[in-house]
Amino acid sequence: MNSTPIKDNDGQVIGTVIVLQDITEKQKIEQELLKAAKLDSLGILAGGVAHDFNNILAGILANLQLAAVKLKKHQDISKYMESSIAITRKASNLTKQLLTFAKGGDPVKKSADIAKLIRETVQFALSGSNVKAEFHLPEDLWVVDIDEGQIAQVINNLTINAEQAMLTGGILEFYGENIIFETADQYTPNHYVKITIKDHGIGIPAEIIHKIFDPFFTTKKTGNGLGLSTSHSIIKKHNGYFEVESAPGIGTTFYIILPASMNEVTLIESQKEIAASGEAKILLMDDEDSIRNVGGEMLSYFGYQVTLARGGQEAIDLYKRAKEIGEPFDMVIMDLTVPGGLGGIETMAVLRQIDPDIKAIISSGYASDPVMSDYERYGFSGVVIKPYKYEELIEVLNKVIDKKQLPLDFIY
Ligand code: ADP
Repeated sequence: MNSTPIKDNDGQVIGTVIVLQDITEKQKIEQELLKAAKLDSLGILAGGVAHDFNNILAGILANLQLAAVKLKKHQDISKYMESSIAITRKASNLTKQLLTFAKGGDPVKKSADIAKLIRETVQFALSGSNVKAEFHLPEDLWVVDIDEGQIAQVINNLTINAEQAMLTGGILEFYGENIIFETADQYTPNHYVKITIKDHGIGIPAEIIHKIFDPFFTTKKTGNGLGLSTSHSIIKKHNGYFEVESAPGIGTTFYIILPASMNEVTLIESQKEIAASGEAKILLMDDEDSIRNVGGEMLSYFGYQVTLARGGQEAIDLYKRAKEIGEPFDMVIMDLTVPGGLGGIETMAVLRQIDPDIKAIISSGYASDPVMSDYERYGFSGVVIKPYKYEELIEVLNKVIDKKQLPLDFIY
């Protein structure tokens, strides 16, 4: 609806023209255009993902083939194995990025040393590049409560963008700083960790700087325009701030500001515990053969007594029997989704009836599933996201062993 005043010669308003217009059709066309544009971008994205995964597979294949040949000659293959692990992690980061974007998953937070995370992520992202990272991350940087996978993804995105902007190479600077904001009351959190990422690349023209956080906005031939939009949504979900400053021809600086954690002490304690090997009796349920078998081997290697189950019903039967013969399991690790069978949540509901004190960890590749960030409400004591590094799994196991259960009525 538009309205315009009608004025007489003296400028007095003597009436109004009101125009009512049905814009349904116009809106429909706009939506169709938006859909078409999104489909276009999806095509570009699918192409990009296929390309990236292909490179990753090529890398793993080459390493495994070399390892196989060398092994026949009884030569050391650890170099190829380590390289395969590193490349696989890259694939896992890519999957996480796609999942965050697809579902906007809530972060699964834990207290972490962000300086270590930055160093590891950047070194990996810049391997083989002519851009060199320079770190100015003080030892006493406060601990932050973050989803390490998601924040690594943000750092990775910013590093790759910076590298692509620095066409002839150069230095990419990382700064860390503890900051305290003045707040009106003592209850509003005011301790933050500020991370600055400063490149000396082509910069961002003023006309487009307001668009760079839009999904699918890209100025690159092979870009997908998802890096900054995913990063923005991740930082927002961490109750942080994400800002940019740029001078064309001189460089771009991104700022990430995250709330500091109150959990410094627990971080140090849990790091100590990781060293300890377990003796606990563990039931591992996963329908995926490779994950179940390798997971079982990994846990046995660390001294745990492991029993494997393919699905929920088998896990329930094994748990019941072990309890009856007086050799109960100390902990259960369960897969969230089991196609055609009982998944983690349904299995847990039954197991809680058999043993209200059960200690269980839920595992899934769907980091964005609401259960993964709200696992305690479903009766679980911990969570691991697949594919997990063994350090992560052991850390969660150690924590859960001593953890108290929530009362039954808190559970759905
Ligand atoms: P993509 O990298 O796939 O294009 P992003 O969302 O990560 O998607 O970035 C969107 C756009 O923002 C880029 O295409 C580029 O134009 C601009 N941009 C992002 N980071 C930088 C940077 N460090 N220097 C210059 N331009 C940048």
